[in-house]
Amino acid sequence: MTTSEARRYQNLRAHLGYLKLNDAADALNTVLDAARHEHLSLTAALERLLEIEVEATEARRLTSRLRFACLPAPWTLTDFDFAAQPGVDEKLVRDLATLRFLDDASNVLFVGPPGVGKTMLATALARGAAEAGARVYFTTAADLAARCHKAALEGRWNTCMRFFAGPRLLVIDELGYLPLPGDGASALFQVINQRYLKSSTILTTNVGIADWAGAFGDATVAAAMLDRLLHRAAVVGIDGPSYRLRSHQRAADTLRAAAGHRAGQTGPSHAS
Ligand code: ADP
Ligand code: MG
Repeated sequence: MTTSEARRYQNLRAHLGYLKLNDAADALNTVLDAARHEHLSLTAALERLLEIEVEATEARRLTSRLRFACLPAPWTLTDFDFAAQPGVDEKLVRDLATLRFLDDASNVLFVGPPGVGKTMLATALARGAAEAGARVYFTTAADLAARCHKAALEGRWNTCMRFFAGPRLLVIDELGYLPLPGDGASALFQVINQRYLKSSTILTTNVGIADWAGAFGDATVAAAMLDRLLHRAAVVGIDGPSYRLRSHQRAADTLRAAAGHRAGQTGPSHAS
């Protein structure tokens, strides 16, 4: 390298650093070497250098979106065993996984008893959305109610509402498991209402839609909320067996089989 070339290299590195293109700065030497050895054109070399920076930026942004999202587990749709859950409409779930529902601010409701995979599917869709570049936030109905309640007491109601209006996709898990505290139903209604027709919400619940009035203790709020939620929505009812119980069942069966086997070995007097 001649002195002027060396100075140019240092300047270029400094420029990249000043523009905070640090991954490109780190890769500069390697890319220049490759360009020399592989006789790359100037365009090809620049493309390779900037590609490195773009990929690193994308990875950083995804990490930060996933950190913000607070997903309860790293589940993706490939983890979901459709064969084990005949109660779910696989075609509908795969269609939802295309994320087209985000484009027209449609909602998704997962309705079913505990253990059938509602949280898992909601999380998998949310993860897909974050990977596709959307801002996603996962919360439970109880947590949302508690945060809104606290915000109201501290005079931060508007900030709190803006926070829940922000994400392109909001997941509200476990509606109906516990009765919502005091003003919880109305906080939830306001969150749903301000997102209505603007951005998508995924809700999971063990309460059949017909029983919402009872679960909210207020038929008018329940009806108004359902009205907005269902106006544009996919309702995924899952009425199959509980996966949780299924694995407990399997563990219990294994234990029983082992116990039976031992009993068989020690003689019929021990068998029960
Ligand atoms: P729900 O929210 O309906 O109560 P979850 O989504 O929390 O159920 O699922 C309960 C547990 O069972 C989780 O550990 C989840 O990973 C697992 N699970 C449920 N359904 C399936 C499935 N079809 N395939 C694989 N794992 C499943
Ligand atoms: Mg759940």
